[in-house]
Amino acid sequence: MALLVWLVLCALGCLAGGRWYQGYLVDRLRLSAAHLLGTKGTALSAAINRRLALLEGLHTFSEANVVAADFGRRFETYAAGLHAGARDVRIFAVAPGGVIRYLYPVEGNELARDLDLFRDPHTRADALRTLKTRGITLSDPYELRQGGLGMVARKSVYDRGRFWGLATVGLNVPSILSEARLDEESRFALALRDHSGRTFYGASATFSAAPVRLDVELPEGHWELAAVPKGGWQAAVRNDLLWFQAGVALAALCLAGIVSLVYERQCRLGAAVAQRTAALEESEEYNRALFELSPTGLALCRMDGRLVDVNQAFAGMLGLDVEEVLGHSYWEYTPQRYHDQEREQLDRLEKAGRYGPYEKELIGKSGQVQVRLQGRLVEHNGERFIWSSIEDVTDQKKVQADLRREHRFSEGLIDSLPGVFYLYDENLKFLRWNKNLERVLGYTHEEIAALSPLDLFADDERELLQTKIRDVFSRGASHVEAYFCTKEGERIPYFFTGLKTEIDECSCLIGIGIDISARKELERELTEMNATLETRVAERTRQLQESRVELECLVEDLKEKSDQLAAANEKLQEVDRLKSMFIASMSHELRTPLNSVIGYSSIIVNEWLGPLLPLQKENLAIVLRAGKHLLSLINDVIDVSKIEAGQIEVRPEEFDLFDLVTEAVQQLEPDIRRKGLELRVVNVHQVLMSDRRRLLQATLNILSNAMKYTEAGSIELAVLPGEGWVEVAVSDTGIGISEQEAALIFQPFQRLDSALRGTVSGTGLGLYLTAKLVTEVLRGSIRFTSKPGSGSTFTIHVPLKAGAEPAPEGA
Ligand code: ADP
Repeated sequence: MALLVWLVLCALGCLAGGRWYQGYLVDRLRLSAAHLLGTKGTALSAAINRRLALLEGLHTFSEANVVAADFGRRFETYAAGLHAGARDVRIFAVAPGGVIRYLYPVEGNELARDLDLFRDPHTRADALRTLKTRGITLSDPYELRQGGLGMVARKSVYDRGRFWGLATVGLNVPSILSEARLDEESRFALALRDHSGRTFYGASATFSAAPVRLDVELPEGHWELAAVPKGGWQAAVRNDLLWFQAGVALAALCLAGIVSLVYERQCRLGAAVAQRTAALEESEEYNRALFELSPTGLALCRMDGRLVDVNQAFAGMLGLDVEEVLGHSYWEYTPQRYHDQEREQLDRLEKAGRYGPYEKELIGKSGQVQVRLQGRLVEHNGERFIWSSIEDVTDQKKVQADLRREHRFSEGLIDSLPGVFYLYDENLKFLRWNKNLERVLGYTHEEIAALSPLDLFADDERELLQTKIRDVFSRGASHVEAYFCTKEGERIPYFFTGLKTEIDECSCLIGIGIDISARKELERELTEMNATLETRVAERTRQLQESRVELECLVEDLKEKSDQLAAANEKLQEVDRLKSMFIASMSHELRTPLNSVIGYSSIIVNEWLGPLLPLQKENLAIVLRAGKHLLSLINDVIDVSKIEAGQIEVRPEEFDLFDLVTEAVQQLEPDIRRKGLELRVVNVHQVLMSDRRRLLQATLNILSNAMKYTEAGSIELAVLPGEGWVEVAVSDTGIGISEQEAALIFQPFQRLDSALRGTVSGTGLGLYLTAKLVTEVLRGSIRFTSKPGSGSTFTIHVPLKAGAEPAPEGA
């Protein structure tokens, strides 16, 4: 649309411009015509005046010779001279009294002779005017009688003040016009008209076509010279105008093009600016996001150190929030010992515009942080700031330290390897090796670095080594035995391993070599030994045969001894059984008289046979106690013997444990009370199918032990029924049993060392027998817990039906 408007405006402008330009061109052309007319007019005046000078000459001659008798001859001579210099003059004539008497040339002018100028109607007016003016008069051009266009100039001749006659010169107008070169103009059409307005040269229409005019002054009046372009003014400037309009149109088009280009460019620029602005905003946003999310700390501070912008990464290093850091100076976070270094960096910043990288520590909220800094100077709105990037290298330092440690470790490990260690790449360039390699080969570190692994072997082995190295790189692993060739030329046998490994994306061979000189020596010795092996094998075989015979004799011997041992063992068992039987029957035999002793002693002590003296009673009581002790000892011995001889009988019967416990308590309670001990009984009804007598014996045993080995405190007897079993536990507050002695108490005849041992009677058979009864007769178990000085608890665990369950472990 804008382009269309522009084109319309251009067209209008073109038209208006065309009009103006046309006017301009016409003006210019008119100016040029005026200039031309000036030239032509001047030339025309000059041509006429030159000819009028001839008239003056003739006039002067005539006045000088009016009185001369031979005027006619003189005239002829003079006129001939004049005519010779001006051939185009048609006639020189002198008319005394107005009648032409003298003329030159005569030829062609015959009709003029004797013409009375004052009387001829064609010349009369002019002649009279000449007479009147006394100066030169010039007629308008007219068609001559003899043909052609001419005009006549006249001047009155006076003889001593009286009119004498007229001097006349007939001028040829075409030659005057030709001399003024009017006909040589190609661009303009020229026209001349005389004083009366008659056009005698050119077209009269020229004067009506808005010509440029010039008056050509004559001695009398003037001619009017006019010029118009040939074809008219419009036609003369048409081409220029067309060129102009074409130029203007082209210029307008070019301008339109330029304008449209400029406009388009403007639009593009506008779009680009908008795009750039958006991109800048986006970039600004992006940069801000980068700034805020950057893992590297970034800080902008004034030259005095005051922080004006920091990101979270930097604030985080200090253990603070961004807002807590802003407005503070970084000097506050820099330990005093770094201040000199800090000032040096500021000097650098001033000189070079940037500082760092360098490392220092920052004082964080929770301790010091190791950082690496670098930065540069920036200028904003005329103020200088420092941009800094701060990297937390605490972890990095730690990792570096760890790496150094690891490196030292691996170096130490490699150097401490028993053999040689090597690592080289596919180009057979050594990358690492241990000190052993240098020591064994006698090369320096630098020498090995310059050598190839193949250089360390003699020529005859290099091909093998090359093959093996190729194997490692193609298959992953290989090994070989070869001779190391030292710098001194010594050859040492080695066993080499090679393993392909990737280090920094480069295939390498890593391996160790072990000196096998000793093994080689052994192999040599073995070879030597092999040579004598057969002899030695034969010798050995012979020795072995001899040994076999000896062995057979020994086996025979052993067999015999074994038979003897078996017989002896049998004998021993028989002896043991006989011993037990002997003891059992002996004890039985001993019990009968002992019962009598006890029975009669108790009759006497109880004074059923009569009163006793106190001493008698006391002694007899000792006899009764000793008898009872002896009886219990014999009973125990009998029981032990029976058990060991496998002769004890199990007599199961159904009974209530409650009754059994009551019976046991009744038996021992008087003695317990007498000793000043407290007795607590926890009894329950529980029917058992077991050997009642043996369970009562076992219960009495542990209850009497509790009483015997308790000096003060209490004894508790408790029945603890369970699912298919029942427990009778006796606890006391007595002397207790130490851990070391615990293993002894169930051994026969074992009495523990204690303060009570001397005063308390015992055989060391009680617990041994109890355990035997509980495990072998009642099919139960016995266990105890004890703490020396605090007391013991003995627990008998029995099944509700004797023999119904296997005996659990513990006894
Ligand atoms: P004794 O006839 O000597 O009592 P036992 O076989 O009944 O023989 O006991 C063996 C030893 O175990 C005892 O001599 C005693 O030292 C120790 N003993 C047994 N019961 C207890 C107990 N309740 N408290 C402390 N020691 C005990």
